Amino acid sequence: MKAATELRLAILGAGGLGKGMMQRVEQTPGFKTVALVDSTGYVWDEDGVDCAALLPLKSLNSYPNAIGSHQAILDLFTVHADDIDVVFVALPNLPVDFIPSIAEQLAEKTTFKGVIVDALKRSRAVELMLALHDVLAQNHILYITGAGATPGFLSTVAAVAAQSFVSVDHIDIRFGVGIANWEAYRATIREDFIHLPGFDADRVAAMSDADIEAELNQRNGLIELVNMEHADDIMLERAGICRRDQVTVGGLVDTRNAAKPIQTTVTITGKTVAGQTASHVLTLDNATTMVDNVCGPALGFLRQGVELHHTQALSGVLTSVDLMPKGHVTTSTAPNRQTVSA
Ligand code: NAD
Repeated sequence: MKAATELRLAILGAGGLGKGMMQRVEQTPGFKTVALVDSTGYVWDEDGVDCAALLPLKSLNSYPNAIGSHQAILDLFTVHADDIDVVFVALPNLPVDFIPSIAEQLAEKTTFKGVIVDALKRSRAVELMLALHDVLAQNHILYITGAGATPGFLSTVAAVAAQSFVSVDHIDIRFGVGIANWEAYRATIREDFIHLPGFDADRVAAMSDADIEAELNQRNGLIELVNMEHADDIMLERAGICRRDQVTVGGLVDTRNAAKPIQTTVTITGKTVAGQTASHVLTLDNATTMVDNVCGPALGFLRQGVELHHTQALSGVLTSVDLMPKGHVTTSTAPNRQTVSA
């Protein structure tokens, strides 16, 4: 039995991560999923949506009580903004300003005044979110961006581990992802394609699902990613941990096998007080999935966000790393840290 003070959660996007979050919430005290949205409509239930009935559906408009709409997010918040405490954004971010444009609409066109987290990945996307600070602050929304696995879980761990060192030489994030079928995570795989040699956002946006399938066939279902444009770099720089060019992100994704092809690691290398070069290495257990490592931390950041929003009246845009211990590195590109206003 859940507590009466459950946070009422709306999940935007009902694909791999959105449904994974709905499942995770079923096992997490303190939250209740009251809304689930996809591109065909939304489902609302103030007592908590029926997770078991919704999980097998390909699209929400086949659910008996769904409200069909081609602008489901706006429609949901037009009717229920004041009945939602927290939001998890699990939408595709193609083009790169799609999720920032949704956040701006929630602030300017609805009465929502709660806490939002996303699992944005690209540096440019997080920069666009940070630029919305004033709009969100004026509308009393606290938005924590880059709060998935990477950036999010892994970059925040790096920010804490870096505190051992007098100076940081390098932070390397290497992730392994295994999914049985790419169609369960279309947006994730499409966004990964952007980082492959010869691809960019425009090319990927123009590709059909059959084109993606054909590319995956040529690669035996494996996507090897190196030197990704990932927001861990600007988030760690903004927090003064190191320069963005000292952060590297890459990984290996198997789209035909739920087992991870490699273990996920974060390696933080720096100088000790004695002048030695040393490295901390965090390794994630292979039994943990993308849902565990994105949705679990996202819920933790939501809890923290609610506390900051309610007790200190904080609003605006923060990154997940902004909630960690700071470093001392200043760069000409690092923005003013005082980004959050009451
Ligand atoms: P998906 O393709 O499985 O699902 C996307 C969902 O969004 C679908 O239900 C779709 O109908 C819905 N949608 C699309 N446009 C919409 C609109 N205009 N209005 C309402 N709903 C809409 O996506 P996924 O693979 O679960 O990925 C979701 C996001 O999570 C992506 O942006 C991905 O990059 C991100 N992600 C982040 C991390 C991380 O660690 N940071 C890891 C994995 C995925």
